[in-house]
Amino acid sequence: MFKLGDKIVDMRHFHAHIYFEPNRLESARLLSERAELSGLFGFVQLRGQPVGPHPTGMIEAHFRESAHASVLVWLEANRGDFSVLVHEDSGDDFRDHTDGARWLGEGLPLKFDFFALIQENPELRVHKPAAPARAGLKTK
Ligand SMILES: [Zn+2]
Repeated sequence: MFKLGDKIVDMRHFHAHIYFEPNRLESARLLSERAELSGLFGFVQLRGQPVGPHPTGMIEAHFRESAHASVLVWLEANRGDFSVLVHEDSGDDFRDHTDGARWLGEGLPLKFDFFALIQENPELRVHKPAAPARAGLKTK
């Protein structure tokens, strides 16, 4: 976050991935609804199946830097025993999911092969670039 004139510019975007096993789908659904009601997230989606590098189904929730501290407090208060991966969406998926990743609860093994795959095939990225500034990074 930085100041541009009088305006606070909230540039950085983050994700929280809340992982759940198939037998926890109902609890995950309730948590997903609570996440939406919290008003902290700009986007919340429940995914019942593993996608991309993610090992299980998950709740994917996006938030801005200005909400970061509140989101961490909310996650610790609400995640129960679900594992949560929090990472910046910087455009560098590998860094975001390794050095840039922060776990709440038990860390789970991600499918790292996936990052090599998207190097070759960027269209397979799960997270589409959010900011127009990234349009210049397209390789094709
Ligand atoms: Zn993510």
